[in-house]
Amino acid sequence: MILFFGTRPGKKETKKLHGAACPHCHQKDTLTAVSQPNYAHVFWIPIFTLKNVSYAECSHCKRVYYKEEFTPEMERAL
Ligand SMILES: [Zn+2]
Repeated sequence: MILFFGTRPGKKETKKLHGAACPHCHQKDTLTAVSQPNYAHVFWIPIFTLKNVSYAECSHCKRVYYKEEFTPEMERAL
């Protein structure tokens, strides 16, 4: 028997980080956090949701920050 098991990405969600400044260009309110859940599925039936992939992007300098690089200010704005 072949077991179809895998993951697939869910709906992308974006959230503006109000009050947080970009650590790169120091502009305020330019950061947008993006999170995308990953669903684990067996035979294409979603079983559980895995940790969200999340990162923040600055609309001013286009720098992308991954969760490990978030400043405490960005964490608070999330
Ligand atoms: Zn920036």
